[in-house]
Amino acid sequence: MTGAGLPAVKHGAIDFGAPPSASDRLYRLTNRPPDATVSCMPAAPLIELEGVSKSYPSADGGEAVSILKDASLGVLRGESVAILGPSGSGKSTILNLLGGLDRPDRGVVRFDGRDLGGLPEPELARFRNRSVGFVFQQHHLLPHATVLENVLIPALASGNSVPDEAVARARRLIERVGLQTRMDQLPGRLSGGERQRVALVRALVNQPAVVLADEPTGALDRGNASEVARLLVELNQETGATLVIVTHSIELAGLCRRRLELRDGRLFAAA
Ligand code: ADP
Ligand code: MG
Repeated sequence: MTGAGLPAVKHGAIDFGAPPSASDRLYRLTNRPPDATVSCMPAAPLIELEGVSKSYPSADGGEAVSILKDASLGVLRGESVAILGPSGSGKSTILNLLGGLDRPDRGVVRFDGRDLGGLPEPELARFRNRSVGFVFQQHHLLPHATVLENVLIPALASGNSVPDEAVARARRLIERVGLQTRMDQLPGRLSGGERQRVALVRALVNQPAVVLADEPTGALDRGNASEVARLLVELNQETGATLVIVTHSIELAGLCRRRLELRDGRLFAAA
């Protein structure tokens, strides 16, 4: 399975199914085929924050608390980036903005060059469902649905029935994470590490262009955390998905191609 094999799916005015490559976009912009000169240009980011600020109302009703202050970030297609930073520094806020779950006060959030801020809520919901896979610290599996059914929930959200190819893909991914014998079991029968592996597969079943993972190994013991970290990064490489992970795990951050630190509301390159 590769990201390049994604079928193009039209949603109103916007096609989020198979984002064009950088050279396709160059061709559109310049109206001429890419040549040796233009193909040497640096690739445009797939997801991007530009000068983003975000405040929340303070708990005591006083002045709003500024969390992100002119933060910028560009993540290339297929890249894996870890975001580190103290608790409360705004890491989840960044993922929420990148995933279209929240909007910035100022600045721009772009997906494949398109400003998410300009999208009405139904388009944004389709973007979240088709183009983004979310993994959280808690697995959030439905207790009364089997492993396979849980994995298929994002595929159901795009229509009334699940296409056969989505079921086949779900089965392949469940096998890939070593849970082939657990397909028809309820999550309650699984260990914490196994449940998180199901959550990884659920995030990937719609072949998202981007996977956003918020402390995905934070609730696991060391052995399971290592296993889930390895699988997450391997699956990112195998599917071609772009991966942004918020983590406190040095091990998981070390598996990513790039590490950033969120400090005083802005992102900096980390060691
Ligand atoms: P992190 O993920 O780095 O721990 P968050 O992005 O979750 O940080 O939150 C940053 C700060 O913003 C925290 O102080 C948090 O309490 C506050 N915050 C987050 N979301 C909201 C919200 N919806 N309303 C008010 N305050 C919020
Ligand atoms: Mg958080």
